[in-house]
Amino acid sequence: MPRTIPGPWRRVADGAGLLSADGTTRPTIFADMSALAARTGAINLGQGFPDEDGPAVVLDTARDAIAHGVNQYPPGRGVAELREAIAAHQQRFYGLHLDPDRHVLVTAGATEALAASLLALVDGPDDEVVVFEPYYDAYAALVALAGARLVTVPLRFPDFQPDPQALRDAVSARTRVILVNDPHNPTGSVFSEELRTEVVRLAHEHDAWIVTDEVYEHLVFQVRHEPIAAMPGAWERTVSISSGGKTFSTTGWKVGWATGPADLIEAVLAVKQYLTYTGGAPFQPAIAAGLALTDDWFASLSDTLRVKRDLLGRGLRAAGFDVSVPAATYFTVVDARAVGVVDADRFCREMAESVGVVGVPLTAFVRPEERPAVASLIRFAACKRAPVLEEAVGRLSQLQPRD
Ligand code: PMP
Ligand code: GLN
Repeated sequence: MPRTIPGPWRRVADGAGLLSADGTTRPTIFADMSALAARTGAINLGQGFPDEDGPAVVLDTARDAIAHGVNQYPPGRGVAELREAIAAHQQRFYGLHLDPDRHVLVTAGATEALAASLLALVDGPDDEVVVFEPYYDAYAALVALAGARLVTVPLRFPDFQPDPQALRDAVSARTRVILVNDPHNPTGSVFSEELRTEVVRLAHEHDAWIVTDEVYEHLVFQVRHEPIAAMPGAWERTVSISSGGKTFSTTGWKVGWATGPADLIEAVLAVKQYLTYTGGAPFQPAIAAGLALTDDWFASLSDTLRVKRDLLGRGLRAAGFDVSVPAATYFTVVDARAVGVVDADRFCREMAESVGVVGVPLTAFVRPEERPAVASLIRFAACKRAPVLEEAVGRLSQLQPRD
């Protein structure tokens, strides 16, 4: 039995559903499922990371930077070249005019930007953070770390669009932050303009901040991504967060950023400088080079992923699953009830052994009390090479329906 260590770690582990009955913490579901895939030799469609390198210019710029001595602490806000590239990117894609010196902060991945934003903006146990559920697993843990209360708005299979009335019911005078992940992990949904407008209206009505997580901004299939910060009245109360990890297939580099009005960015910086201070010196100019790639390059990124989404979706349907067709992201969610599965948690572990494919049960993305609502749902990642997806789909076609 381990010693009982007092402190907020327990709240964080519990918030993320990682506290075991014996008081120890378990690894995140992503690490757990990747380890299961490695152990069983199963194809890993669990943890969302690509199995191919991103653009050569990005990789070469990092190599050059290391070779040319860009290996010491970069400035706290990030190197000027990257902050300028982020500002130019926001202008080019969203028409947002940012001052790279005041409106941009480089972080250790989107994760640090999320952590620093929540720690900066919430102030104790009476403060509430509204999120859409299922949510990216870090959200519950970070809200717990910040000592605030998590309030959720449900997203239901198959379209995963929130009911605007449920959002109105969730936001109140206690709401300090509305945390929006659009495009959305794990469901692959993109929120409607009506919903985004309602988020802005409610933030004004209740004087709340908006924090947006847009790490999948370039992995959208039908429509262009529209950031909340570009909506009327949103800019002055919104911290927008993104990262180079997904766009440039460099998830292990952890170069992210927060953009927003100067006073909000100052507040996030105040926290961020005592989390990591700085990081990723040679990777920062490399991500700057990526952000300067052509419009055609960005379009081909989503075109390539759309083909993979379709390949995976066809295979999942052929295997008998009910498939929610994602509008964006790496991910496709299926309902496995159609093949007789009621406990996707157990099924995902068995499937690694019996079928040789790993997916993530959606129970990993909800509070314990919501687990029954998602008990038969599974997330599969499409960000793998076509032959890998074909092999996975072939294996899944052997799935025996259960009764
Ligand atoms: N938010 C969401 C919705 C994500 O899917 C991820 C990536 N796993 C992150 C944040 C974290 O991004 P980063 O790796 O840049 O910290
Ligand atoms: N964002 C990735 C996913 O959702 C992986 C994140 C992680 O491993 N923490 O699968």
